[in-house]
Amino acid sequence: MVKIHDIVFEPYVSEEEIDTAIAKITERLNADYENERPVFLSVLNGSFMFTSEVMKKFKRECDIQFVKLGSYEGTESTGDVRTLIGLNKSLAGKKVVILEDIVDTGGTLQELDKILKEKNVSDYKVATLFYKPSMYRGSIKIDYAGIEIPNEFIVGYGLDYDGLGRNLTAVYKRKS
Ligand code: 5GP
Ligand code: MG
Ligand code: MG
Repeated sequence: MVKIHDIVFEPYVSEEEIDTAIAKITERLNADYENERPVFLSVLNGSFMFTSEVMKKFKRECDIQFVKLGSYEGTESTGDVRTLIGLNKSLAGKKVVILEDIVDTGGTLQELDKILKEKNVSDYKVATLFYKPSMYRGSIKIDYAGIEIPNEFIVGYGLDYDGLGRNLTAVYKRKS
């Protein structure tokens, strides 16, 4: 049990389960990108731990870039949502693998899709450590999903609750 900002979270996904899920994804990436040189595109902040583990398990040549999308204010997708950190190098024509911590409604991915199209990236795949299929409203294919979960709020392994909890090495869910 961990308490973050007065909310109690209980153990949900162990370190071992996370490691196994990432190993499975990376095994597929090693096979699928055997003769390519992918650019891993890590979506900050949440995916930093996932990114690190994928990189360690990926055995071929690869490149890495980071993006950070501005957050939504209310329900409106303002200019802020497209604010970026990184993406200064050209991605045109590259094989991009997006690394996400979690895909929920798919709103973030949809924004990223727009940005990548503007950068003339037509070939990208999506790898996410966690995926909430029952919440997903997007049209973008999730190519590599590590662990599917129902509509629970989770923290740990990069994921925060109001800024805290990212350094937890396992994943916890909000206690109901
Ligand atoms: P989407 O745009 O797919 O709806 O949501 C993606 C973003 O919402 C994630 O990158 C993450 O920041 C946040 N998010 C969605 N579900 C959770 C969750 O269960 N826990 C935490 N900590 N963040 C979440
Ligand atoms: Mg994310
Ligand atoms: Mg967050």
